[in-house]
Amino acid sequence: MTISSAVMEKLSRLGIHNELDLILHLPIRYEDETHLFSIADAPTGRTVQIEGLIVHAEVVVRPRRQLICHVEDSSGSLVMRFLNFYGSQIKSYTVGKRVRLLGEIRDGFFGAEMVHPKCRIVKEGESLASTMTPVYSTTAGLAQNVLRKLIGQALQRFGSLSNQMETLPEKIIHEYRLIGFRESIACLHHPPPEISLEALQTRSHPAWRRIKFDELLAQQLSMRLHYRQRRDRSAPVLSRKHQLIDQFLQQLAFTLTAAQAAVVNEISHDLAVAYPMQRLLQGDVGSGKTIVAALAALQAIDNGFQAAFMAPTEILAEQHYQKLSGWFEPLGIQVAWLSGSQKKKQKQAAQDAIASGEAKLAIGTHALFQEHIAFHRLGLAIIDEQHRFGVQQRLALRMKGAHHDGWVPHQLMMSATPIPRTLSMSYYADLDVSIIDELPPGRSPILTKLIADNRRDEVIERIQQACRHGKQVYWVCPLIEESETLQLQTAIETHETLSRIFPNLTVGLVHGRLSSQDKATVMALFKHGEIQLLIATTVIEVGVDVPNASLMVIENAERMGLSQLHQLRGRVGRGAEASVCILLFQQPLSEIARKRLKIIFEHTDGFEIARQDLQLRGPGEFLGARQSGVPMLRFADLEHDEELLMAAQASADDMLSLYPDLALRHIERWLGEKTEYLRV
Ligand code: ADP
Ligand code: MG
Repeated sequence: MTISSAVMEKLSRLGIHNELDLILHLPIRYEDETHLFSIADAPTGRTVQIEGLIVHAEVVVRPRRQLICHVEDSSGSLVMRFLNFYGSQIKSYTVGKRVRLLGEIRDGFFGAEMVHPKCRIVKEGESLASTMTPVYSTTAGLAQNVLRKLIGQALQRFGSLSNQMETLPEKIIHEYRLIGFRESIACLHHPPPEISLEALQTRSHPAWRRIKFDELLAQQLSMRLHYRQRRDRSAPVLSRKHQLIDQFLQQLAFTLTAAQAAVVNEISHDLAVAYPMQRLLQGDVGSGKTIVAALAALQAIDNGFQAAFMAPTEILAEQHYQKLSGWFEPLGIQVAWLSGSQKKKQKQAAQDAIASGEAKLAIGTHALFQEHIAFHRLGLAIIDEQHRFGVQQRLALRMKGAHHDGWVPHQLMMSATPIPRTLSMSYYADLDVSIIDELPPGRSPILTKLIADNRRDEVIERIQQACRHGKQVYWVCPLIEESETLQLQTAIETHETLSRIFPNLTVGLVHGRLSSQDKATVMALFKHGEIQLLIATTVIEVGVDVPNASLMVIENAERMGLSQLHQLRGRVGRGAEASVCILLFQQPLSEIARKRLKIIFEHTDGFEIARQDLQLRGPGEFLGARQSGVPMLRFADLEHDEELLMAAQASADDMLSLYPDLALRHIERWLGEKTEYLRV
């Protein structure tokens, strides 16, 4: 088949680069031209096909120019109306012509009518379509007919290659009661008349099931392959020694929860093998991930290697620095601190200590992996709140140790944005995942209140009360996505207003534009109880840990996303005090905002919130930065196809070890050029 380059270009806009892509371009819906209804019996409210003779045709100009034809069959008649039409249509839709119309009948002023039906002139007795007519998503300038024809041709060619079309071994087809690939594709492009349209539309038909399985399997295979490739690279063996770690645990004011101890073991085991760990540590806000990271760092340091600990914001990096240097320096371990806004001299000193290996642990923002930063012997990179970093940044840090001595450092990623199970089984399947599924003891649950903005007075009263009892309060200013300047201005104004309202309290302000020095000062004052009410922008969203703060007010909560609200709320409820989070909202609420607030009000479990968030938003947005590197699912739907996802997961390893050729062909078919994507 020769396709003009203009058409090629259009096709590639649809993601179609070859014939296989063409046959995987599946219909979005169907038109049923396999049945004819008589005009009198045709149901309303759905698309139907009728056939009749044109008995009257005219162009009227009132109320506006339109082409009107009366079409009649033996049972009755209807009006066909075109508001936009070509001269050619006037010429061909003339009295005496036999036409087939496909459209919806509705009751118009002059009786039954079809507006802008698909209209085709036919001969008497012309046979009906033998299959449903597919409708494909297309792009400007590529007619549905052209696309149909191209796909039809591709299908024909592949039809004769039936034995090469199948990429699944008999065993898997049998085990999961799947139907053949060619059969599925043929059925989905050209469904037979007797098929259940419902099963097609809901994608529950066996043909859909097979296609979705294939898609999920391709994803699993590529993830598994990537996983295996990682094992071919080398990393330093960081065996578990006890000296530093035991000493450290002894000086700690608390003991690890069982969940923490379990993930520490998993990580410790990974560090001791000779290929790079890539583990994602998930744990809800406040579950105690930092200490787990600290223990991993100690294991690296114990073996004479360095560790890097990267956080997405200066406030968080600074806080980690305070905490970890407090833990490590008594053990004689030097910790370096690096941030973008540091003074030149300090920065240079930190860089030197990192380069010479004097500093065993380096903590910082993404400043840590800029080009001129050289580590002496980096063995482990820890990335806190990993979903905040772009793919490029994560890759850059991993490569830090790589060119040095031929090894790749181990990598520990941490996230408090829990990834729902189906997502971690699919898009994150190339990572190992550890989960902390309990909170440290002694926490009291957070009470969430939804309060409309016009009841601010009550909130003010509550703040007074809390502070009178020696508690501390966060006030989170609205997120203004369109303008950072406006957001800053709002924060400053809120600070002024609240300072006036609470003359008896020390009111602090922290926002993203403060120098890191000033940020650190404010946070330290808050931490030590010298600031009672802290006005903050969402810079405090991640990681900030001040256990005595037990009341949080979030303004315009309706503007924030679920994970952001959950993160913010997690700043309280860190001590033994019963904590309250007040979500102020502005009325009226949009439908989606109402849903979000309801979810955050009803749930405190981050996994449940994430699961519902996934339902609300779909995986695309959820994946954020990761998305750019990972092929998205087009057909399978993680929420409804969990059973298929499990089947695909179970099959992937079998395929790779028993049928490697089929596995490669399968990946090639589904991912083609996308197999070379960056995996971080
Ligand atoms: P996150 O998982 O959100 O990063 P952090 O590591 O900041 O949580 O820990 C939250 C708080 O819980 C910190 O104050 C930390 O010292 C404390 N913590 C961590 N583990 C325990 C534990 N096993 N027992 C008591 N407190 C703990
Ligand atoms: Mg944290």
